[in-house]
Amino acid sequence: MEEGLTFALKDAQKDAQKDGPKDGPKDGLKPSREEILRQKNLQRFKAEALAESRRLRARSDYRPEFDRFLRLLEAGPLAFAERPGGRPVMALLCLQAPLELFHAHGFQPYRLFGGSLAAERLAAPYAPATACPMIKSALGSLALLKGDGPQLGLAGLIAPTTCDWIVKFPEPLRAMGLNVGPVMALDLPHGQTRDLGQKKWLKEVYGLNSFLAERSGAKIARQDLLRSINVYRAANRAFSRLIELKRQGRLAQIWFGVLAGSFFGEEAESWVKAIEELLPLLAEARISKAKAAVYLTGSPIFFPNFKVLRLIDEAGLTVVKDDLCSMERLLTGPVHYGDPSMAGLMEALAQRYQQGCQCPTCFDADRRVGNLAFGHKNNLFQGLIHHALKGCHPFSLESLTLERALTLKGLKFLRLETDHSPEDSGPLLTRLEAFRSGLAAFG
Ligand code: SF4
Ligand code: SF4
Repeated sequence: MEEGLTFALKDAQKDAQKDGPKDGPKDGLKPSREEILRQKNLQRFKAEALAESRRLRARSDYRPEFDRFLRLLEAGPLAFAERPGGRPVMALLCLQAPLELFHAHGFQPYRLFGGSLAAERLAAPYAPATACPMIKSALGSLALLKGDGPQLGLAGLIAPTTCDWIVKFPEPLRAMGLNVGPVMALDLPHGQTRDLGQKKWLKEVYGLNSFLAERSGAKIARQDLLRSINVYRAANRAFSRLIELKRQGRLAQIWFGVLAGSFFGEEAESWVKAIEELLPLLAEARISKAKAAVYLTGSPIFFPNFKVLRLIDEAGLTVVKDDLCSMERLLTGPVHYGDPSMAGLMEALAQRYQQGCQCPTCFDADRRVGNLAFGHKNNLFQGLIHHALKGCHPFSLESLTLERALTLKGLKFLRLETDHSPEDSGPLLTRLEAFRSGLAAFG
């Protein structure tokens, strides 16, 4: 078993049942059982993060410039608990919420999802064993912060209603006694092309604007929104350059995951500045030896759980393109507007986020099949790896649709179903190696 990940979810559940939901004495002298468990898992959370960072730093393509991004990932949710003087943090679950609006209102959006088993462990008594690991990790990461203030240092939580686990998220949150401040459900229509859905979504975006204004205590002006749109335009520009470098073989997927994953760990402006400094160095990086090129799709992958990315590498495959919402789909392009009035900007913002959504929670599977087949037709990649987290129903379901449609088009398809535990690493590697030998040599 891997270093830093020497505990499995089975143990987590056992521990949680033993120590979990019952509160011990709270006499101010002796910590409760709940607090002891939190402290224990906080140490595990830190150890897990450090173990993954150590593995990353030991790679031959590691460069010291990656360190600042790694440190942001290592801190995880603790980063915002320990940032006095920064923008107030508004927690976020899915990406389907216009980040520019958060910024214009003076908030730092922070996506709660993560890949920590230690965080999941804290949520175990409050979520079904079959729950999406992202949901458990989000709950657990908030529980890790429990000692840090009545509202965990958050200004609120935005939950776009993309999948059922997210819709139900506030329930275990309440059961765990976690106060994240006001919660807003952002109702994302699942049909993207319908006129009615688009109108409804625009109304939701206006609702988010009012919610954020209420939380910040002030309305925003057109210029504030325009400024934020420009900040995110710069972020999109820098991000597109990273994607280009990845396509050229100058940036490995695992490092791309580090850079993308650190985006919420700091303010957008400082992330853009750091990436812009890194870009010329990466542009000079040696192009890595050609391996079989694959497309990676499916459930998101977050630090410190890069198990699947490492195994793909070990199997002699290289990810040239992905559409994970934690990676290439993090920033899917700037907001384009023709009408610079406040109404025009709001409409452009709503449209950009609804049309840009490629989640399997949307109704239109044909659009995803079409996009994936297009890359294959253009010889970008030879095979497709579909990663479904156990408990992530939207991706598990779509994997069957995609497999049928794409294999008919001649694309090699590998479905991987896994979780955050390291125990299935051996069988996964064997399947990836077999997949690799089925692909023609690339290059
Ligand atoms: S794929 Fe979409 S719905 Fe699922 S976690 Fe990512 S952003 Fe949310
Ligand atoms: S889409 Fe999948 S990964 Fe995302 S929250 Fe829902 S179940 Fe979890």
